[in-house]
Amino acid sequence: MTIDTKIWTGPGRPAVFLDRDGTINEEVQYLSSPHQLRLIPGAAQAIARLNQAGIPVIVVTNQSGIARGFFTEDEVEEVHNYLDKLLADQGASIDAYYYCPHHPAAIVKQYMVDCECRKPRAGMLSAAAAQENVSLAQAYLVGDKRSDLRAAVSAGARGILVRTGYGKETEQELLREAEATGAALVTNVVDDLTAAVEQILGTVSQSQPQGIKPPKFAASFRHYRPEIGQRYPRS
Ligand SMILES: [Mg+2]
Ligand SMILES: [Zn+2]
Repeated sequence: MTIDTKIWTGPGRPAVFLDRDGTINEEVQYLSSPHQLRLIPGAAQAIARLNQAGIPVIVVTNQSGIARGFFTEDEVEEVHNYLDKLLADQGASIDAYYYCPHHPAAIVKQYMVDCECRKPRAGMLSAAAAQENVSLAQAYLVGDKRSDLRAAVSAGARGILVRTGYGKETEQELLREAEATGAALVTNVVDDLTAAVEQILGTVSQSQPQGIKPPKFAASFRHYRPEIGQRYPRS
């Protein structure tokens, strides 16, 4: 797998999309409070390496707990603020957060939508690509669930499955299916975000043209609510 050599000069730039729960932080069912947030070992350093390489890091996370009435959008934003703080302590930062608050069977009526943003659909990735000038063909999505891998495929990006969070279960499921159909497992599976970033940076540095600097990423917003199209200034 190689990245096109137009990586830094083409119409869009590469980006790394990250699932949140089970990929950056330990999986907790419907994480609603900063107190529940624990970074997966190595995650902050891995994100810092992407920051240093000038590659935008964009979180795309399904937060149907909002639709289910378990927590509010403000609480999700508090969690993200705290995540920022934990990452900043280790010199890492997220350039933008996108979350989907919806669910087709929502308890909270305003979020009852069969939306385009909930993974496995590609809405959060395509919105981010448009707003942040990202070339999806040169983007990765790292996550621990099938819905992450499917979103990557729908968006035309490359998916990487990590074995943290639900990743081991996901891998077993995919292996069983591959065995049942006699097909080879085509999913790219690595242990964790550290290994995913190593792989991504390995391909990027191999193909990066000499003397061309990666573009600087200017994040201008923090959260995006796809159903109303609002952007939020960075706090
Ligand atoms: Mg996850
Ligand atoms: Zn949605």
